[in-house]
Amino acid sequence: MNIDNYEEAIMNCRFCFMCRHLSAIGQVRCTEVDTPRVRAAMLYGIRNGTNSFDDADFVDALYRQDLSASCRRNCVNGYDENGLALAARADVVEAGKAPEKVKRLAAKLAKTSEWKANGKGAVAIFLDETTASDKDEVAALGKLLKRTAGSYVTITGGSIGKVLKVLGYLPEAKAAAERFAAFLNALDVKEIVVPNPAAFDALNNDYPAWGLKLKAKVFCTAGFLIAKKVKFAKKPGALYYLADDFMRNYCKCDCPERLLAVLKAELKPFGTNDEESYNCGEGAIVLDQLDPALVKALAEYVAARADNPKTDQIVTLGVYAKRQLVRYGKLKVKTLAEIAAGSL
Ligand code: SF4
Repeated sequence: MNIDNYEEAIMNCRFCFMCRHLSAIGQVRCTEVDTPRVRAAMLYGIRNGTNSFDDADFVDALYRQDLSASCRRNCVNGYDENGLALAARADVVEAGKAPEKVKRLAAKLAKTSEWKANGKGAVAIFLDETTASDKDEVAALGKLLKRTAGSYVTITGGSIGKVLKVLGYLPEAKAAAERFAAFLNALDVKEIVVPNPAAFDALNNDYPAWGLKLKAKVFCTAGFLIAKKVKFAKKPGALYYLADDFMRNYCKCDCPERLLAVLKAELKPFGTNDEESYNCGEGAIVLDQLDPALVKALAEYVAARADNPKTDQIVTLGVYAKRQLVRYGKLKVKTLAEIAAGSL
C-alpha cells in the first residue's frame, strides 16, 4: 500500500497530539478525526485489519483535509503526516472506495489535459483555470510580464496532473503531467512563470519525482520579479501577508517574503501565531468544490482573527485563498501580484 511508505508517521503520529491546533479542519469542526493523531491511528488500523476503507465516514475525513502541511512543518521530528494523508487517498482510490463526488471530479479533470499557447517570446506564463478566472490577477500579471519580459507566451488550459494527484489518482495524474511536460518542452521557451502555488509545486516537486524534465526554468511570480530586478516606484503600505501553504510548507520557497521586502511593504503579523495555515484549504486545491460549507467555516475562522476585518489589506499568493477569504470571510484581499503591479 502507498501508506507503507510513511511508516514513521503512522507509528509515531498515532500517539501524538502535539500539532492538533495546526489542523485547520480539526479547529473548525472540533473533531479529533481531523487531526494527524487520529488519522494515523485509523490508518494503522487499515494495516492491521481493524479498520477498512469500507468505512465511508473515515474516507470522508481523508477527503476533507486541508493538506496545508502545517503539522509536518512544525513537527519537531518532521514526520510526514501530509504525505501519509496523500498516500491514504491513493490507497482509497486503488481500493475503488473514493466518494462519488471525488470520482466525478477526477473523471472530469482527466478529460481537460489540453492547453493553448498564445504570443511569442522566450518567457511563458501558465494561467491555470483558477488563476485565469480572476480578471484582476490576470491584468496584474500582464502588467508585470510586459514590464519584465516585453513579449511573452501565455499558456492556458486544464489539468496538469496536480489535482488528480491530490485526489489520489496517481496514474492519471502522471499521464496528465507527461502530456503537459511534452507540451511545454515543444514550445522551447527559456523561462516559465507559474503564478498558481499548486501548479508551481507540481512543476518543482511532482514532475521531478516522476522523472519529468522541463527545458524551461520554472519561476513563481515573486521569484521572477526578483530575478529580473524590477524597480518599484511606490510602496504598498501596510499589509497582512498570509504565508502560502505550498511555498512555505511544500516548496520551502521564501520568494514571496523576499518580494515583500523589495516592495518595502509595512508588514503586519496576522492572527495569533506564525504556524497556522490561513489559506482555507489551498493544499487540497479543490476543497471548495468538494465541501464549500467547510471552506466557508475556514474563511470565517480566518476572518475572526483579522484586526480590522473591513479595512485590513490582506495579501495571499494565489487566487484560491483570495477567493475564499473574499467570498466567505468578507475580507479585503489582493494577491501579491496585484500588490506588485500596483507598485510599479
Ligand atoms: S506530525 Fe509530529 S507533531 Fe504532528 S502528530 Fe505527528 S509526530 Fe506529532
